[in-house]
Amino acid sequence: MRLKRLGRHLRPAARCAAILLTLGGAEAPRLTTTVLDHFTLIDGTGRQPVADQSLVIANGRIVWVGPASRVRVDRLAKREDLRGKYVMPGLIDSHVHLGLVDGIDQDFTKYYSRDNVERQLKLYAAYGVTTVYTLGTDGDAIHEVIAEQRRSGRPDRARVFTAGRGVVFKGSYGGVPGLDQSVATPAEATAMVDREVAKGDDFIKLWIDDEFGAIAERMPYSISRAVIDAAHAKGKKTAAHIFYYDNAVELTREGIDAFMHQVRDRVADPLLARMMKARGTWQLASTLSREASFTYRLLPFVDDPFFSRGVSPGTVAALKAPERQQRLAAARDFAKYPEALRNAMTNFATEAKNGVTYGMGTDSGPTGRFPGYFAHWELELMVKAGITPLQAITAATGTNARFIGANQAGTIAKGKWADLLVLDRDPVADIRNTRAIRAVYIAGRKVPTIWETCAGRPLDGCGRAQP
Ligand SMILES: [Zn+2]
Repeated sequence: MRLKRLGRHLRPAARCAAILLTLGGAEAPRLTTTVLDHFTLIDGTGRQPVADQSLVIANGRIVWVGPASRVRVDRLAKREDLRGKYVMPGLIDSHVHLGLVDGIDQDFTKYYSRDNVERQLKLYAAYGVTTVYTLGTDGDAIHEVIAEQRRSGRPDRARVFTAGRGVVFKGSYGGVPGLDQSVATPAEATAMVDREVAKGDDFIKLWIDDEFGAIAERMPYSISRAVIDAAHAKGKKTAAHIFYYDNAVELTREGIDAFMHQVRDRVADPLLARMMKARGTWQLASTLSREASFTYRLLPFVDDPFFSRGVSPGTVAALKAPERQQRLAAARDFAKYPEALRNAMTNFATEAKNGVTYGMGTDSGPTGRFPGYFAHWELELMVKAGITPLQAITAATGTNARFIGANQAGTIAKGKWADLLVLDRDPVADIRNTRAIRAVYIAGRKVPTIWETCAGRPLDGCGRAQP
């Protein structure tokens, strides 16, 4: 019998997994085994890369990983020789917004739909971003998407975790027009958090900002405290949009679990980093690519095929339009962004040096901030700020996964989903090599990469299809 024969050829660990897979029910799925051979492994835990490894995938999961010389598999297994290639976990972007735009036109009420959300999740996957956390601007359709993903466990696009509707102080900064999400009192905040938890949010988001002082009032601390306490009472973590040093200090004191941007109003006193470390507050997203994008009238990579393959020619033309560039340059706050970016990079470096736990997140999804591409730009900026490529990769994989217990992804180990990124060049030698994407796997299945994508055109309309 097929299984018995297979069992003889597997090492004990893999044999065990093969047997387990047959116990799922009367209609046990056919065991399809894929073996990736001879690659250099970057496992997402922070461990140094290991040469000449193999891994075995069955029914979407990693059932064995180890030295290529020790892999034993059935002759029916599909084998892929990845000599000279690098295999790492799929990236996780801890801060995105889904379904807000069509091209660079942003309007939640016009564009938020399940279809648009799914389209963007496909684009994230093409860039090797196999999981995203969406940060507080979701309509209820997100819960349908998530329910379906978690039922099968094997989506053909990026997995989603959501903060549902984040909490906005009435009349203050945050959220999106068209989504009812503002509260005026602590009692309303508590009730809103309870409703969000009941809907199935994975964590809770709040905003505390005033748009460079243009808005009269930031969220009062009585409300942020109510949000944090209500979420914690229900076992949910909390994540905050911040801008100001003072707010970061106070929220850390109140027990916030993570910041989704850097402090940008000044170079932060290292005291904040030490406090975050002591309290276990994470810098889950530094959104350096977001801050960088605001410093340009025209994004410097609009003609880079790694970018332009993911957007329609109409979007590139709209970005290049002279009127748009003039409008951006004339905007009230345009001159303030270079300093905000410098502060963000300095503050990120200080946190990293002081042992604060940090992830990788971009805040892509609103207009002008592009799914997938920004994750690779973010990694590059994190390295520019002062960490190593291996540290940046670990932030974007194993560390990000840990924040909300997405413990079936983020690292390469037995039992995890086979959400993988195969690269032609070494990302530990040069972080820009995360762009040399050879293949992307989600739950063991290949999905089209950005080099096999040509948005808004026939597939051959983007030139040579390789990294
Ligand atoms: Zn955001």
